Amino acid sequence: MQLAEQAGPLSWLDAELDAISDAGLRRVLRPIDSAPGPEVVLEGRRYLLLGSNNYLDLAGHPEVVEGAAEALRQYGAGSGASRLVSGATLLQDELETALAQLVQQEAALLFSSGYLANLATIAALVGRDDEVFSDALNHASLIDGCQLSGARVSVYAHGDVDALIAALGRSTARRKLIVTDAVFSMDGDAAPLADVVRVAEEHGAMLMLDESHSLGVLGATGGGLAEARGLGSRVQVVMGTLSKALGSAGGFIAGSATLVDFLRHRARGFVFDTAPSPASVGAALAAARIVRREPERRERVVSLTRRLAAGIAGAGAAVPTGEAAIVPLVIGSPEDAVAVADRARARGLLTFAIRPPSVPAGTSRLRLTVTAGHSEDQVNRAAAILRETVAGLDG
Ligand SMILES: *Cc1c(COP(=O)(O)O)cnc(C)c1O
Repeated sequence: MQLAEQAGPLSWLDAELDAISDAGLRRVLRPIDSAPGPEVVLEGRRYLLLGSNNYLDLAGHPEVVEGAAEALRQYGAGSGASRLVSGATLLQDELETALAQLVQQEAALLFSSGYLANLATIAALVGRDDEVFSDALNHASLIDGCQLSGARVSVYAHGDVDALIAALGRSTARRKLIVTDAVFSMDGDAAPLADVVRVAEEHGAMLMLDESHSLGVLGATGGGLAEARGLGSRVQVVMGTLSKALGSAGGFIAGSATLVDFLRHRARGFVFDTAPSPASVGAALAAARIVRREPERRERVVSLTRRLAAGIAGAGAAVPTGEAAIVPLVIGSPEDAVAVADRARARGLLTFAIRPPSVPAGTSRLRLTVTAGHSEDQVNRAAAILRETVAGLDG
């Protein structure tokens, strides 16, 4: 047997990884040893965390944890099969009803993840004879869904409604589908939804809105950007995740009962995937109740986001922030972004450098997020550390 000596068929991986390192894009995992609250334990030390999507601080909430525990005790650890076989439970039905209510749609369908919900739904709604119109800064799961569908894909400049109109005007496709993030994951700004809705209607296009970063955070009842803008009834396909504000894991699509019925037959990521785990479903159900009951959580996220944006204004090129929980501190090169994150970490602040391909080249950044669980003091302290760290970058 020849082992390490011989160049095996995977030996090209070493060269690929070297190239990644040379470009300043090598990634390491930092395994945290606690729930993703405002403070976390990493390598035995406590850090202030400004880098999770646990926006309402529900992932470790006792009621959410108990929701998961109860579901585990009653339904077990795994669901055992896909929904269409023996994996369907009353608990999933209850969650789908709660999610449909949350986004003010008729029905909802659960998926194992938001990523899968996007892949499966786009690929079910459009195919070779169709065209998808996709914002240039859409999440990777939407981009991948477009690719998988086999439809023609027209990427329009970020938030550029005129470009969208032009692309729709050129199209001769059988079906047209516009897909956009509601709040963009790396910039934190909101889609020009009123204009997008109007344009979709004028061109007879379907509209799919990814509310991953707005669900639970925006809208009077936490329904997301569509609710905040009063446009919910004019968006046909709403996507949400259970893994951010809801503090659990999984994803869903909401819309008409007909849409959901269709997806149950044609969304391969639903048909051929084992049903979400009972613990995830139970946790999300408890979280959805809190979202409805405690609007003060979203008010707090929004006010802390403004505080953080104001606190780091002038340090780097902070993009003017939208209404939700994300504040991008744009640094530039991947090496500098990593240096800022490293130095902030040495001072007890845990943030994460986001580099290409997650963001365009030259816009490597710290993607800062606050949660309802942070205090004003914590946010002020984080802003001070970041200002000083960025200012000291050349030294
Ligand atoms: C996180 C995210 C997803 C994927 O959701 P998961 O449940 O984490 O798989 C999809 N779209 C956007 C915009 C996201 O930020």
